[in-house]
Amino acid sequence: MSAHGVVPLIERKRDGEPLSADEIAWLLRGYVAGEVPDYQMSAWLMAVRLKGMTQAETLAMTRAMVASGRELEWSGIGRPTVDKHSTGGVGDKTSIVLVPLMAAAGAAFVKMSGRGLGHTGGTLDKLESIPGFRVDVPLDEMRGQVERVGAALVGQSPELVPADGKLYALRDVTATVDSVPLIAGSIMSKKLAGGARSVVLDVKWGSGAFMTSREEARVLARELVRIGEGAGRATRAVLSSMREPLGRAVGNALEVREAIETLHGRGPADLWALTLELGAHLLQMSGIEPDAAAARARLAELRDSGAGARKLAELVEAQHGDARVVDDPSILAAAPVVVTVEALGDQPRWVAQADARAIGDAALALGAGRRKKGDPIDSAVGILLRARIGDRVERGQPLAEIHARTEAAAEAAVHALRSAFVLSHEPVAAAADAYEVIGKEQIGG
Ligand code: URA
Repeated sequence: MSAHGVVPLIERKRDGEPLSADEIAWLLRGYVAGEVPDYQMSAWLMAVRLKGMTQAETLAMTRAMVASGRELEWSGIGRPTVDKHSTGGVGDKTSIVLVPLMAAAGAAFVKMSGRGLGHTGGTLDKLESIPGFRVDVPLDEMRGQVERVGAALVGQSPELVPADGKLYALRDVTATVDSVPLIAGSIMSKKLAGGARSVVLDVKWGSGAFMTSREEARVLARELVRIGEGAGRATRAVLSSMREPLGRAVGNALEVREAIETLHGRGPADLWALTLELGAHLLQMSGIEPDAAAARARLAELRDSGAGARKLAELVEAQHGDARVVDDPSILAAAPVVVTVEALGDQPRWVAQADARAIGDAALALGAGRRKKGDPIDSAVGILLRARIGDRVERGQPLAEIHARTEAAAEAAVHALRSAFVLSHEPVAAAADAYEVIGKEQIGG
């Protein structure tokens, strides 16, 4: 490969012409091998960012990314394989509820997750608030764990899709992150390499999400489903709102506690509703249940019988964590300072806004998240929402509880939360936005 051979590919992309699957594969192979320099790849990425990609090109790029590393192969595992991805948000602890329920239903669920960055949390950080929990299960040990337990909750293996890490680092410094084909290729290459046959994607929209408008989220969701279906995986996307945080807890140990409460049937309604929605699609796509009603009933039964909570304990134990957490979440770290933010004003009011982004930023400032990759996090701190959009509050009633390391940090969070909440004199409807589902039918497949 010569640097000259790359120029015509950049030129054609610059002029809006599609490249062939072979050309895209050749370019990516060269980049991962270090033969195509960053400056040429940057130019190509910017051309993609400005001109877009055809569906065929996006699928070809995703496949080439998958081919850059190992692919997990689950034949002979004896259970239908499922996977899930969320585009990320504030308070999103759904995987910690969904994965054990799906494993208890008989699926094999290897969930590779990421760490939190900025106002959004990451499942790995949440899990690490469980004493002893290890997220770095080597690929070779994973199969045994999935055979025994039915699930693994682990970090993204560097052996899978090495092209993604390299490309993402370049996109990050060349203003090319916000491109639908590049985002879709990045997400779906990791799902395809994970090897699951059925994939559900939780595409979030709203202030706390990567995609702020529902329309943008829909465009991304369609692209994700096209790639999944194009690669022969049963794929559905669910659009869900991230205008306010999911559930009441934001912050690592607080979120794990809420996920455990949800498995015991005592969690917030919105978190359970999303778990049911995503789980019902996976149970149907994988053929474990014939329809949505049966799938929902199965998930509720697994929760009510305690099978989901027992499965989480098994999973925690398998990954060296303290499984007592499932019956006694008080073993999780607790913050030394707890301050309540109360509603002001003489008249009763209704919560019109509990802005997910602002609440995520407040949790980040408390130490629950990281501003840049590698920063340490404090698993004990965070925010518990005591009022949600649509709730009626009177003067002195709590809006939120701040769990902080110091009085000064709590004080700063009080101010941040006061601006995150908007109270109205008029009644406001709860933010029960209906889920929109994108499947084969919606992409014309
Ligand atoms: N998440 C990913 O995994 N990749 C992107 O490019 C954006 C979000």
